[in-house]
Amino acid sequence: MISIDEAIDAVLGEVRPLPAETEPLLEALGRATAAEIVSPERVPGFDNSAMDGYAVQSAELEAGRREFRVTIDIPAGLWFAETVGAGDAAKIMTGAPLPAGVDTVVPVELTAQHGDTLVVEEPVQPGANVRRAGEDVAEGDVLFPRGARLGPAEIGLLASVGCDSVSVARRPRVAILATGSELVPLGSPLSPGHIRNSNSFTAYGQVLAASAEPVLLGIARDDLDETRRLMAVALEHDVVVTSGGVSVGEYDFVKQVQEELGVQRHFWGVATKPGKPLAFGSRGNTLVFGVPGNPVAAMISFETYVRPALLAMQGRSDLYRPYVYAAAEEPVKGTKDRTEARRCRLERRGRGWGFTTTGPQGSGILRSMALAEGLAMIPPGHPDAEPGEQFLVVLLEGSSAERPPFSGAPASGSART
Ligand code: AMP
Ligand code: MG
Repeated sequence: MISIDEAIDAVLGEVRPLPAETEPLLEALGRATAAEIVSPERVPGFDNSAMDGYAVQSAELEAGRREFRVTIDIPAGLWFAETVGAGDAAKIMTGAPLPAGVDTVVPVELTAQHGDTLVVEEPVQPGANVRRAGEDVAEGDVLFPRGARLGPAEIGLLASVGCDSVSVARRPRVAILATGSELVPLGSPLSPGHIRNSNSFTAYGQVLAASAEPVLLGIARDDLDETRRLMAVALEHDVVVTSGGVSVGEYDFVKQVQEELGVQRHFWGVATKPGKPLAFGSRGNTLVFGVPGNPVAAMISFETYVRPALLAMQGRSDLYRPYVYAAAEEPVKGTKDRTEARRCRLERRGRGWGFTTTGPQGSGILRSMALAEGLAMIPPGHPDAEPGEQFLVVLLEGSSAERPPFSGAPASGSART
């Protein structure tokens, strides 16, 4: 058995970046830039008003003038090409272009208008309430480096500079194959001794959440020929995630079939609970993960090893989940020779965090996984612990470039509290 860090290193060592493809802007949502993006336009495109009010010359205000003649009314979208005279004011709406001759906007709240006479009740600083052309983004500014995730704000920023398509890394295509003769697909009646296939559903969600493309290959019964046939199809994808069939049971054919089909094995067995019988190999550029069958073991293995690989294939550098240190709020059972990931919820406690497990921790109990916000990582060989002891808790949402210190304490100061 190898450690979590050794397993992650082995997986990332096999990752090959996927090629770029150009996508319409909305198709790029959630994906990673394949190249640095430079702005083709400036934002704002022209000097404009930040407030509803009156545009005047600041020199006139400075000289003490409080009355101006309103000569024009400029709504957003109108371009007024003439110059506003020294004692004149332009009524102007938020976002409307500032005409020539004026440089300052007095908000409507600080004024009164009688007929076409404007009275400035409170003067403002020269240049106030004007958004300058290019003050947010200059033409040629680097908006994003390569490998940046394009979330809603990033997509909006690209729209604001007129990018209607963007070069992103291709989504990894991930074949999802459940194995086990006991499994029945959703929608079929459950006969005695059978269970429902849930792993394909959790994996589907996990693949999508990593901006990758899930391909469901259904269920392979514990039968050599069927496993061979479906594994051959699975190996045509960028990534294969099988669940089950990697333990030491008599019907665990996954590893054997993969070897027959030319998969090179990199490791089998990680010193974690749940998740010990994880098998990892590769064939060409295809990464091949055999996650354990127990639903929570399958999910945690995906979280810890498959997710970083899918992000790295897309050129991302924020491969990991954020983490905190949190105090146990209940006694913590000690561990044997493996790191144990305990499903938990976090609670704010002063300036730090406390954690409580979400219920029974059996590796098949999905309910406590559904309730969890994080995984408290109890190191191998840890004795029983009292409430108050601090443990690493890896969150189940978010992304960070910093790998959680699975194998021990980080340099002080790097932890978020
Ligand atoms: P295995 O690793 O094949 O020995 O499976 C371990 C446990 O996980 C068994 O109790 C299986 O029934 C269960 N299991 C395997 N595959 C799935 C699946 N796709 N969905 C839900 N449970 C599963
Ligand atoms: Mg099985």
